[in-house]
Amino acid sequence: MDTRVNTDLPYYEASGNEIELFEHAWKNRLPLLIKGPTGVGKTRFVAHMAARLKLPLHTVACHDDLTAADLVGRHLIGDGETVWCDGPLTRAVREGGICYLDEVVEARKDTTVVLHPLADDRRVLPIDRTGELLEAPPGFMLVISYNPGYQNFLKGLKPSTRQRFVSMRFDFPSAEREQKVLIGETACDPMLATRLVNIGRSLRALKDVDLEEVVSTRLLVYAATLIRDGLDPVESCRAAIVESLTDDIETADALMEVVNATF
Ligand code: ADP
Repeated sequence: MDTRVNTDLPYYEASGNEIELFEHAWKNRLPLLIKGPTGVGKTRFVAHMAARLKLPLHTVACHDDLTAADLVGRHLIGDGETVWCDGPLTRAVREGGICYLDEVVEARKDTTVVLHPLADDRRVLPIDRTGELLEAPPGFMLVISYNPGYQNFLKGLKPSTRQRFVSMRFDFPSAEREQKVLIGETACDPMLATRLVNIGRSLRALKDVDLEEVVSTRLLVYAATLIRDGLDPVESCRAAIVESLTDDIETADALMEVVNATF
């Protein structure tokens, strides 16, 4: 787990009222669910809000092996004795601040059991193995994110879980906002940002290509970074965008046509 208090404000280009909504949720101790495709700024937004509210941020990247014990903690044997070791969720509840569970639907089903009492008005974390019942301090906030695009039947969030959260939808940014992100992140020139944003929009609009997910702002930021550093624009787009989107050679050729039409 990554725990940090960031005093610098990480750059975040807002799309609407999400900053205000987050602040109200925080003030009223409501947990927050952020849904949206990969690479559209969910994690950056949470980092920005933690710094803005001067809160520690505890981030847990969820994966399909993550169990409730991984989050809550377990007894470990060392030096002949058994010691209890807090998991990242327990640490976050003890210390306060924002606990951000990224891609929460990836985690095993039993993890939702420990989230429920934390995510409603009880705001408690029962630790069965130690018999503790931790009360979340006022400064604790639970934030989860997931990508509905990846979601399959088994991995969806249960209504009983979703209905404990205030929810926000993130989507691909407008052209103007995406251009600002590219310039804000890489200090590239506005012309290059416009071209990359146009490539992004054309790729997202392609109908006949078989992609699991379309190009994210993150990949456009990578392309801008490589080009700004002096790498050939076409090669930069191939490496940062096309090859990251597909393994299929015909699909890659179709995507490269869009790149070649621009540079
Ligand atoms: P997600 O958590 O949605 O997968 P991230 O927050 O990690 O995506 O965003 C990926 C990258 O895209 C960030 O590191 C940043 O460079 C850029 N980015 C995307 N959206 C924004 C935004 N609104 N403001 C600033 N940077 C952004």
